[in-house]
Amino acid sequence: MSVCGRFAPTPSGELHAGNILCALLAYLSAKSKGGKFIVRIEDLDAARCPASSAQNMLDMLGALGLESDESEVWQSKRTDAYRAAEGILRRKARIYPCFCSRAQLLAAQAPRLSDGGVVYSGRCKDLSEKETELLLKKKTPCLRIEVPNRVISFTDGAAGEYSQNLATECGDFILRRGDGVYAYQLAVAVDDCESGVTEVVRGIDLISSTPRQLWLMELLGYSAPKYYHIPLVCDFEGRKLSKSEGDGATKLFNKFRTEEILGALAHAAGILSKNRPSSLQELITIFEWKNVRTDKILLPREFL
Ligand code: GLU
Repeated sequence: MSVCGRFAPTPSGELHAGNILCALLAYLSAKSKGGKFIVRIEDLDAARCPASSAQNMLDMLGALGLESDESEVWQSKRTDAYRAAEGILRRKARIYPCFCSRAQLLAAQAPRLSDGGVVYSGRCKDLSEKETELLLKKKTPCLRIEVPNRVISFTDGAAGEYSQNLATECGDFILRRGDGVYAYQLAVAVDDCESGVTEVVRGIDLISSTPRQLWLMELLGYSAPKYYHIPLVCDFEGRKLSKSEGDGATKLFNKFRTEEILGALAHAAGILSKNRPSSLQELITIFEWKNVRTDKILLPREFL
C-alpha cells in the first residue's frame, strides 16, 4: 500500500510554529517512506474561516517546501461526500435529531471529556414522534449518532496505547450541526479514508477524537490509517501556542531563513541533535519516529 500523509489545518487564523511542526512531521514521516503528502483545508465552518487565512496558510507551507502532492482538498466543497456517508451510517447505526441547547447540555452535568466536550446525557434519544414534530416547529435539530457500549483501542505511533469506551467516555456525538454543517468527526473520517491517507500526524489534543473516527471508519467499511499524536508545542515558558493569541508564524519568516526555521523546529522535536539550519532533503534522510519527543516540545526563545 502506498504511504500517504496529510496536514489538515482549520483556516481560522494564522498557522503557528506548532502547526508548522505538525505539517513538517507529517511530511517527513510520509516522505521518509517514499510516500506522498497532501494538504486538506478544514474550512467546514465558513463563518470562522476567511478565504485569506487559507491562502496565507498555503503560502507559508509553500515557503517551507511543504507542498501538497495533489490538489488540496477543501472540506467546504465536500458536502455531497459527507451526505453520502450519513446515508450509509443511517443503515448501520441509529441517528437521531437532538434539540438540546448548549445550556441544557451543560446543565445535565454529564461527565466531561478530555477535549472539553460533555458526554451526552441521551435527553433527546427517546423523544416520541409527536414530541419531535412539535420541537421541529421551533428549532432545527442537530443529528447525533448512537454509540455502542464498546471500548475502542489503538496503538499510537507516538503516544502509545490508547483506549476509550464510546458510551461512557464519549457518548452519542454530533454528525451534523443544526445549521446543516457536517461535524469534524464525520468529515475527517470520510476525508482521510477517501483520500487514501495511511498516516495521520496531529496534536495530542485530538487523541480523544480518534476512537470516534475509528468507529465511523469501521461502519463506513474503510480501513483506518496509523495515528501519531504529537505533544503540543509550547513557548520556552511552557505556554501552549494558540492561533488566537498572536503566536502566528508570519513573523518568523521576517526574522529567519527557511532553513533556519526547519532546523530549529526539527531540533525542538528531537530530530536534529543541534539547532542549526537544515533542508527538507536532509531531514527526510535522517527522520525516524523513535527520535521524536513525546513529552514536551519547547521552542527556542528567539522564536517568539
Ligand atoms: N483541523 C484540525 C486543526 O486544525 C486538525 C484536524 C486533524 O488533524 O485531524 O486543529
